[in-house]
Amino acid sequence: MWNENSKPHPQIKGAKIIEGKVNFPISWLNQQGYCEYSIFLEYVEGISTADTPEMKKGQDIHQQLEEKFKEEAVPTTFNEMMELSQKEEILSRELWVVSPEHGIRGFIDEIWLTPDEFVIIDDKPGTTAYYSTINQVFGYCLAFKDTLQKEDNYGNDGRRIRAALRERGTDNIFWSAEFDQKAENQIKSLVDRMQELFNGSKSFLPTTNPRKCAKCRFRSYCEFK
Ligand code: SF4
Repeated sequence: MWNENSKPHPQIKGAKIIEGKVNFPISWLNQQGYCEYSIFLEYVEGISTADTPEMKKGQDIHQQLEEKFKEEAVPTTFNEMMELSQKEEILSRELWVVSPEHGIRGFIDEIWLTPDEFVIIDDKPGTTAYYSTINQVFGYCLAFKDTLQKEDNYGNDGRRIRAALRERGTDNIFWSAEFDQKAENQIKSLVDRMQELFNGSKSFLPTTNPRKCAKCRFRSYCEFK
């Protein structure tokens, strides 16, 4: 099991070493799209800031959804879910996925498991499908696919994987796309870049968009603002 070979990264806060490889939270792919340098400040330099009102609101809505789901949820194992969903549609929240191979891990907000496909849903404020949020949900798809392939019998049953973004606190899916080979290649290439940032072979680039800096919680610590 991966967690038997897991330990905290000695220099990068929040990263781990799993099976000898740097493993980072998939949500960092979203932060990368906002500004790579903020990842450096937060996790390499270890600067912490207070949560923004938007972050607090997101956490509250997330908690409410989780509690509502738990009222009717039936605990089950990953393999039981896979088996049951070959016959009927089921829903899971906060599904843990990890890919030691690509060095990513995280909790999927919600997943619909149907006899034909898996729909990986990430809840977001607003209804704009940013490049960064698409990367994040593709990251969950990649880790989910790797998780499937680790489990006997279920990795190759032909079901498609679909990525979706939903307006937080609503049923409004405002973007979705199949996690096809092109999407997989795109996200693998970005994950590889992240690995290069962490091993020092590439530099964390600051955004060139002053509007992002104006709203950035690391602004007072940043030399590029
Ligand atoms: S102030 Fe601007 S350049 Fe600096 S971390 Fe924030 S977004 Fe990036």
